[in-house]
Amino acid sequence: MIVVMKKSATQAQLDEVLRRITDIGLSGHLSQGIERTVVGVVGQTHPELKDMLEMLAGVEDVIPISRPYKLSSREFQPESTVVQVGGVSVGGGELTVMAGPCAVETEEQVLSTARAVKAAGANILRGGAFKPSTSPYSFRGLGEEGLKILATARKETGLPLITEVLTVRDVELVARYADILQLGARNMQNFILLEEVGKTGKPVMLKRGLSSTIQEWLLASEYILATGNRQVILCERGIRTFETYTRNTFDVSAIPIIHKVSHLPIIADPSHGSGKWYLVTPLALAAVAAGADGIMVEVHPNPDVALKDGAQSLTFENFEQLMARLAEMAPIFGHSLPARAPAGASPQPHR
Ligand code: PEP
Ligand code: MN
Repeated sequence: MIVVMKKSATQAQLDEVLRRITDIGLSGHLSQGIERTVVGVVGQTHPELKDMLEMLAGVEDVIPISRPYKLSSREFQPESTVVQVGGVSVGGGELTVMAGPCAVETEEQVLSTARAVKAAGANILRGGAFKPSTSPYSFRGLGEEGLKILATARKETGLPLITEVLTVRDVELVARYADILQLGARNMQNFILLEEVGKTGKPVMLKRGLSSTIQEWLLASEYILATGNRQVILCERGIRTFETYTRNTFDVSAIPIIHKVSHLPIIADPSHGSGKWYLVTPLALAAVAAGADGIMVEVHPNPDVALKDGAQSLTFENFEQLMARLAEMAPIFGHSLPARAPAGASPQPHR
């Protein structure tokens, strides 16, 4: 349930509400918006609690939150969350463009990609040093050496880094290098990991699970938010359906649904959402038209020899073309692009 404070409520009255909530073993989470101050009550609430809280001085109203997810809901926080990371705002109007290789392979590969995506207008560098892998025999990442390479690329280009953390064991290590911690689809319901990542206080991007409903996804985000970390970004990366032509089915409807029911920003990942490089641009454009706060795209200097996800990776040239198309259409949908995109015609993508 949420406790809506009166406009005239004092700090002492707010403190008293928070104290009562913690006294009975629940936790209170503050949302101080422009319009109103709200306390979200999380834990096993009971009907008498509403009467008790309503009687306290400074309280305007006590409203049960109808949805199972609480802190991620728009009922708790009507204003959209904007996550700040290294000078980049995720959410709030500017389109965020995260780009880079699926996996860190070599310093040269990462540096050349970072330079190319930056020149084309990306504002966050992606790349996996710890890779989740369906087969234990395929490439699983360079580990800390990969993180060091990413940090070198950040130093040269100034682009903040997003990279995945796979296990609780590596949270501390990855958090030392990353600006945003990525929680992958396969770990969306790894609840202990969600909490540990939340406790770092760093921005977290939570990808949608392979077969997860929107409600399960938002409930997973609650584990991070409940640690007090409000810097959560969601990422739609496609879900498993009966269709086999594409690697996953990109659920474009999830984007407006998330904006309706939640205040968290949402990024679209058309690379994993399709598995095919030539579908990346059309899906990215569809996602932006549907209201996505940004995109995450895999880019590789030579996708044909990529150690991971080459089939869905864009060449530098195709990424530039995607950015040019985005520059044309983003303003129509109320977004601005982070930086310049190359001008000129939009030729057909090719490899
Ligand atoms: C990735 O972003 O490289 C990745 C492994 O994605 P997902 O968790 O969505 O499969
Ligand atoms: Mn990948």
